[in-house]
Amino acid sequence: MNIIGKVTVLPQLPEEIARLSELAYNLYWSWTPRAQELYQALDYPTWERFHQNPVRTLLEVPRARLDEVAADPAYLARYAAVMADFDAYMGKRDTWATQKAPGMNPVAYFSMEYAFHESLPIYSGGLGVLAGDHCKSASDLGLPFTAVGMLFHQGYFRQLFDKDGWQNEAYDELDLTTLPIRPALTPAGHQARVSVRLGARTVQVRVWTLQVGRIQVLLLDTNVPENSEEDRKLTARLYGGNQDLRVQQYVLLGVAGIRALRLLGIAADVYHMNEGHAALLGLERIREAVAGGLDFRTALETVASSTLFTTHTPVAAGNDAFTYELMDKYIGDWPAQLATSRDDLYALARHDQFWDNHWVPSFSMTVFALNLSRAANGVSELHGEVSRSMWNFLYSGAQPEEVPIGHVTNGAHNLTFTSQAMRDLLSTVLPADWTERLEDEAMWQAVEGLTDEQLHDVQLTMKREMIAFVRSRMREQMLRNGASAADVAATETVLSENALTIGFARRFATYKRATLLFRDKARLSRIVNHPEHPVQFVFAGKAHPADNPGKAFIQEIYKVSQEPEFRGKIVILENYDMNVARHLVQGVDIWLNNPRRPLEASGTSGMKASFNGSPNFSVLDGWWREGFDGTNGWPIGEEREYADLSVQDDADAFSLYTHLEEAIVPRYYGTLPGAESWAHTVRRAIETVSPRFSMQRQVIDYVQKYYLPVAQRGAQLAANGSQRAREIAGWKSWVQQQWPYTSITAQADFPASAQPGQAIPVTAQVHPAGISLQDLRVEAVLDRAGHLTHVPLQSRGDGSFHAEVPLQDSGLYSVGVRMVPQIDGLSNELEARLIKWA
Ligand SMILES: *Cc1c(COP(=O)(O)O)cnc(C)c1O
Repeated sequence: MNIIGKVTVLPQLPEEIARLSELAYNLYWSWTPRAQELYQALDYPTWERFHQNPVRTLLEVPRARLDEVAADPAYLARYAAVMADFDAYMGKRDTWATQKAPGMNPVAYFSMEYAFHESLPIYSGGLGVLAGDHCKSASDLGLPFTAVGMLFHQGYFRQLFDKDGWQNEAYDELDLTTLPIRPALTPAGHQARVSVRLGARTVQVRVWTLQVGRIQVLLLDTNVPENSEEDRKLTARLYGGNQDLRVQQYVLLGVAGIRALRLLGIAADVYHMNEGHAALLGLERIREAVAGGLDFRTALETVASSTLFTTHTPVAAGNDAFTYELMDKYIGDWPAQLATSRDDLYALARHDQFWDNHWVPSFSMTVFALNLSRAANGVSELHGEVSRSMWNFLYSGAQPEEVPIGHVTNGAHNLTFTSQAMRDLLSTVLPADWTERLEDEAMWQAVEGLTDEQLHDVQLTMKREMIAFVRSRMREQMLRNGASAADVAATETVLSENALTIGFARRFATYKRATLLFRDKARLSRIVNHPEHPVQFVFAGKAHPADNPGKAFIQEIYKVSQEPEFRGKIVILENYDMNVARHLVQGVDIWLNNPRRPLEASGTSGMKASFNGSPNFSVLDGWWREGFDGTNGWPIGEEREYADLSVQDDADAFSLYTHLEEAIVPRYYGTLPGAESWAHTVRRAIETVSPRFSMQRQVIDYVQKYYLPVAQRGAQLAANGSQRAREIAGWKSWVQQQWPYTSITAQADFPASAQPGQAIPVTAQVHPAGISLQDLRVEAVLDRAGHLTHVPLQSRGDGSFHAEVPLQDSGLYSVGVRMVPQIDGLSNELEARLIKWA
């Protein structure tokens, strides 16, 4: 057919079930299986065919079927129950926020990707799931919160394996009228449009709104008729195209995102940059402040003081850096708008890179985000540490542990990933309001009350569902690739519900080492093909379209899965998405993760598995380094650094096999005399991981550690026409100018050896140039086995400083003396980024 236009005819719902439409437009359903069942019951094939999308299902279902359910008392009873829960959720007044953070200032959260549900494929992996889950818990907790992202109308990509197991990518154009989004309306009732200049062009951006429980997500879209064909494609694909497209997308997210908030009159006092992709929101906020009469430096201090930046990965590909020339193309006219120079602006993003055999300054999104915020964090304790070392060069003279990057360990949205069967079982031992107290560790101890048999039954139910799902997906894939009738029929017997089943699914970034399991195939074969105690594996995951090494990993697994000894026992599924993720984390017995430590900043899929009673078996990296307690899963490898990656891979693979053979398989099959039962580990996994790695705990941490203090400091700096920001900016410029002319020398009276508790006299002589002595902190820094203590030296008024520095414990101390300029009201002690050691 030659299509000349499209029109959506909205269904007229019978009165009795009229609110199905309202509910379809609130992603509350995405973590409420009972709500999904209402749509699924209308027309199961349609529901499955269109990615379990309620809006689409309502569009497709014939009127006669709607009338039928509207007259079915059983359906109406379920409908009434879901609506009552929905109303209670939406209307709840005494939320966590009203109780624990009353009067909290509104937060605007910016992220390039969001994973809410598979029917809205605007995500690639863990970062998106984290952002989507963050929004869901912000809603659960009742936070004043608005999220901003992009509406990619071709999404990320759909993954297809060819006959040889090579990944191909398909891009489907989303039909926006079938998604649970609506055009955002301005206060005057007009459809929201903002525009952004990209080089010589002005690009129009349409704004959509997506309701996620109580909170709103704004989605930006350039696919409108006013734009050129080229510009319409700016929001076609997530992480598609080249560097050129990336920069333009970042300008859109940051600049158009802020403009959309303003146009819609949405308040925000705290701005959260989720990953460096969002850093350019700072440009637009500084422009606003400069247009309001502030100078560049004062505007920068004001904006940064109310910004939080979260960094998500130490992997280079996750920390974009662009040439200055490329940035000139798209933000070349910004220095003038910000009343500053290109040099001064780009200096805030500068990260020298070794490109083409020489050092080149580049515009790093991470560095820009660090400089445009006054609070920053990594996503696990270890990742905080790794980030502090990684960005230490920005704080010259600071010890790595002093770098002002903290951490909030990631979590996952429990209800999104916990099966209804497990939720029903948990409800038998947890209090009635357990879904509102997910972070409550004491509450979860009630899981000890579940019997081995109850857990075994619920897990078998979930496993059967997963196996049925795997078989039907494999069958589809076989049929598409023209497999023989025998091969198609063989999919009916893939996997056994009686074998220990291990899941591995995630993006196929190479550091995640998806093929580590195959390092010793003979040994693996003995584990898999054990006559009484067999083990089977389910893999899934997408490689980035440009990542051939990642695709080669997929192909390697696919090829192994075709070898006679592994057929039907090791499988790899196509098109990893949230639907596949839910089936796997619910249905497998164990979750496997073996990244190359310390590159997995957090990881979250293992948390989702633990919520469903599938213990985690993982390298002690990211969240598992904090989560593993000796009873709730198993470790892989050691907590150490390796110089040689191949040695690391060998050691970790060896540890993986040994744990399987000696601990996990015997435990699962109950062949270790006197050992705890399998269900014991399952209970421990559920009760320890569910609260501590709930998204609810994570968002509460963000509120308490960051959103509240950042809002407070932001308000202080912005008060009275940014008076304090102006003072800080002026003071920083002054100390920076003076700094080269300052000097410090120090003497200490070191005894040959000392007693614990003994003090050594330390004296420093400072020449402060034009800096007031009151604005200098002079201190001794003691390093004992990597643990730092700071002892301030007292000013004697004439430029000399002194202290008796106590040596508390026995051990080897290294002692240094330094000066740091400081005034009240800075976000941290090193904010001026000036440190001079004697
Ligand atoms: C949870 C999840 C991820 C993240 O998995 P990691 O193991 O943390 O990398 C990626 N993709 C999907 C679809 C997920 O649900």
